[in-house]
Amino acid sequence: MKVIRLREGKERSLLRRHPWVFAGSIAKGQADAGETVRLESHDGRFLAWAAFSPSSQIRARAWTFDENERVDHAFFKRRIGAAVALRQRLAVASDGVRLIHGEADGLPGLVVDRYGDLLSAQFSSAGTERFKQTIADVLLQATGCTRLYERSDSGVRGLEGLPPVTGWLRGADVAGGDTTVTIREHAWQLTLDVHEGHKTGFYLDQRDNRARLADWVRRFGCRRVLNCYSYTGGFSVAALAGGAEQVTSVDSSAPALARATAHVALNGFDPARHRAVDADVNAFLREALKNGETYDAIVLDPPKFAPTASHAERAARAYKDINRLGLKLLAPGGLLLTFSCSGGVGAELFHKIVAGAAMDAGVDGAILARLEGAPDHPTTLMFPEGEYLKGLAILKS
Ligand code: SAH
Repeated sequence: MKVIRLREGKERSLLRRHPWVFAGSIAKGQADAGETVRLESHDGRFLAWAAFSPSSQIRARAWTFDENERVDHAFFKRRIGAAVALRQRLAVASDGVRLIHGEADGLPGLVVDRYGDLLSAQFSSAGTERFKQTIADVLLQATGCTRLYERSDSGVRGLEGLPPVTGWLRGADVAGGDTTVTIREHAWQLTLDVHEGHKTGFYLDQRDNRARLADWVRRFGCRRVLNCYSYTGGFSVAALAGGAEQVTSVDSSAPALARATAHVALNGFDPARHRAVDADVNAFLREALKNGETYDAIVLDPPKFAPTASHAERAARAYKDINRLGLKLLAPGGLLLTFSCSGGVGAELFHKIVAGAAMDAGVDGAILARLEGAPDHPTTLMFPEGEYLKGLAILKS
């Protein structure tokens, strides 16, 4: 068992149960990638059992703050079991559920989504990589699923010194190896591909906001809806379900748009009510404004403009730009659903950016709701970094 000794004063965040130890906090000690190490304060007090990550700036991630707990098969069984049990109590309105949400579920670097009978997982830290086979076995046991697809191809793997990996981890022969699956979310059905889709295949975090859009479209009688950064059209289907007459999905990914078009038919809506536009959103919005188009509801759900706080300033300009254009394109009384999934842009800053955009557009609006990720993407009190998705629903004055 290897010991990693921290510098004086650097134990504070671990004592507050924040799981990360940065390279600069370490006084001495070395270990292999993913090896379980004992973290100690400068004067030798036990702090945590952690996964060591020699090439990452986040040099260690705490598995447990309990000195008596072993990091073994039973440990993963307890943690995964607790995460799965929490989801059962949440009564998620879908068979697409985030089962493991990294640090918030006490499993730093692990994300697992369940899509029907299929699991899709991302192992993005040296620690989860080392215990991959154990984790895979426990996941199948805890869920009763027979197949698990690995989507360890996110950029953060590189920071850990790990190569990208995708493919079946368990159950390659089940259902002929088909990587597509159709989930039922609220009142609609959505198909996704765990091999080709973004992240683990789909954006489950927006599930409840899609239901709210359907509800608002119905209550406010929104006729024309514009879904920007639509991906496979989840918000578009929700708008159609809410009774919108005409929905436009805009995205720069042709395969995502093809699926959006297929989703309209899959859910029994007249294809004439939907238009898929392959374009850069910023350019589309400018063009629409020039052509004098207006919309009764607009969704802006862009990709992460600011991965970290250091990108916040440039990201702020990008967010402000699309929100200004979106607010201008809205008819008076129209509804804007605007989001940021950037960890580097907090809810307060995002509010300021959107207010600045409204100022530049020369409009005001009432905040109908503050939006966040669905509860199967929990955040914890001790790990504010986990809070990434924030949004506002605004009624234009
Ligand atoms: N709202 C979606 C998720 C959006 S993810 C849902 O509910 O499922 C962000 C999307 O933005 C991705 O589909 C990506 O292809 C798209 N995208 C990224 N940059 C873009 C750009 N400049 N213009 C248009 N789409 C873009």
